[in-house]
Amino acid sequence: MLKFPIYLDHNATTPCDPRVVDAMIPYFTNNFGNAASRNHSFGWQAEEAVDYAREQVAKLIGADTKEIIFTSGATEADNLALKGVFEMYAGKGNHIITCNIEHRAVLDTCRHLEKEEAEITYLKVKANGLINLKELEEAIKPTTILVAIMYANNEIGTVMPIQEISVIAKKKGVLVFTDATQAVGKIPVDVNKDGIDLLAMTAHKMYGPKGIGALYVRRKNPRVKVTAQIDGGGHERGMRSGTLNVPGIVGFGKACELCMQEMGQDTKRLKALRDKLETALLKPEEAYLNGDKEHRLPHVSNISFKYVEGEGLMMGLNKEIAVSSGSACMSASLEPSYVLKALGLGDDLAHSSLRFSLGRFTTEEEIDYIIKKVTDTVKKLREMNPVNSDN
Ligand SMILES: *Cc1c(COP(=O)(O)O)cnc(C)c1O
Repeated sequence: MLKFPIYLDHNATTPCDPRVVDAMIPYFTNNFGNAASRNHSFGWQAEEAVDYAREQVAKLIGADTKEIIFTSGATEADNLALKGVFEMYAGKGNHIITCNIEHRAVLDTCRHLEKEEAEITYLKVKANGLINLKELEEAIKPTTILVAIMYANNEIGTVMPIQEISVIAKKKGVLVFTDATQAVGKIPVDVNKDGIDLLAMTAHKMYGPKGIGALYVRRKNPRVKVTAQIDGGGHERGMRSGTLNVPGIVGFGKACELCMQEMGQDTKRLKALRDKLETALLKPEEAYLNGDKEHRLPHVSNISFKYVEGEGLMMGLNKEIAVSSGSACMSASLEPSYVLKALGLGDDLAHSSLRFSLGRFTTEEEIDYIIKKVTDTVKKLREMNPVNSDN
């Protein structure tokens, strides 16, 4: 039986896997200790749980446990990486290279740093949502301290060529930071194979709880340091103070373990469902896929429907289907998605886009229903729209 609304917005957040919740529960009640309490078993138990979770998290991205700094999520990890590197490496330079389709957590942090005398280069992406590697190479100069390019884009699901980006940066001795929030747990990410020095991730996009994430900070070849942005008791090797969120960390660890075990089968199943959805929705005329068709996440599809108003589309769908739209009608700003605009889309196509992001619990029955619902809604709106016929 279908349950409404159908959730197809997993890039915004995922439900907690019940196995994650089960793992967390004891750490709210019986095992409630502070992981920093050194004098009794409550503390030792909590510390042991954190150590174990740190291993689960580290393993998923091929890191060492000492390289994982727990944060409140990816926004904080992005802030710590950018501000922390900017402050720590001030003696080397003030130039950071990023791109124009990064998440707000990166872009707004870069804007903040500009007020503190940072020089930021925002690389423009190509029409397919990927950066031009030659432009990256040309942008690097002696004062460049960091290349910050996301692993996978949250809106269009495109996957950046991180290994190639890293080779270029490494050749010039520049550190590589990637916001891998949408990639970790969904596709293989390995900090060593990929040549990553800093990486941001969050639990709630991979079937873990909200309010917990991590920054990976490389310890060897090279040893990377970041200046703390939250001072206090010196937790997390001095890089992020504050009592550890033990239940959150335990859940994050469990979520990583499950992703590691199930990524292969989840990817295969979701890609088949995504392709079925996409093929059906692109079949009628004047529907366009946004972002590169090859280099992207297996569970995401972003489609623009010409001759349809974004607002009408959302109103027609959102009682039954939870998806995201590139339209600004639903948000406070008037501008449509800056990501879609960066690909060169006009306001009309940016407004009339839908992001479908599938997840671990998405069923084929749901996809079949969505195909019918979206197709019917688009058809109806086009029949109502007078501009449609004279073009
Ligand atoms: C969701 C998301 C974030 C923010 O993560 P929080 O844990 O919610 O702070 C940052 N970057 C990307 C790419 C995201 O998708």
